[in-house]
Amino acid sequence: MRIAICPGSFDPVTMGHMDIIARASGLFDKVIVAVLCNKEKNPCFTVEERMELLRQATAEYDNVEIDSFQGLLVDYAREKGAVAVVKGLRAVSDFEYEFQMSMINKKLYPELETVYLNTSQEYMYLSSSVIKQISSFGGDISLFVPACVHDKIVDRLTNM
Ligand code: ADP
Repeated sequence: MRIAICPGSFDPVTMGHMDIIARASGLFDKVIVAVLCNKEKNPCFTVEERMELLRQATAEYDNVEIDSFQGLLVDYAREKGAVAVVKGLRAVSDFEYEFQMSMINKKLYPELETVYLNTSQEYMYLSSSVIKQISSFGGDISLFVPACVHDKIVDRLTNM
């Protein structure tokens, strides 16, 4: 069983995330989408809420599981028996940080590979923070978030 982890904040889930998750689901036997519990950030959605949005958005993928983790990604990956971490690359600007992280993770857990999937062109400008900005000014985000969780996301982002 080849297990991959898609880690991230997912605050909230976007079509850019969905694109990476769907493609990872086709490449691996099982994909664990792991929401990072990062106490330093000031999130719009709690970890539980983010997991619930992801659960609904990924319901059609039988081999995708939603979880959360704190601490080091390599420790979590080891615990889950994962062979890979899958990350999306939007632009060259994503690369430097991701490259550094993957080198460190390789030192800490050599069996774990980091797999990068290039963003699909239509989502290269998308991030959770862009969605929060558009929504806070009353803009339409229906093209950018999964349809089944659109209303829940808009409700929260426009009532903050
Ligand atoms: P963000 O808050 O910037 O959306 P996350 O930490 O939630 O970022 O992202 C989780 C993972 O999804 C990361 O690997 C990130 O590179 C990837 N990702 C996010 N948005 C996109 C996108 N539009 N295209 C490809 N990958 C993406």
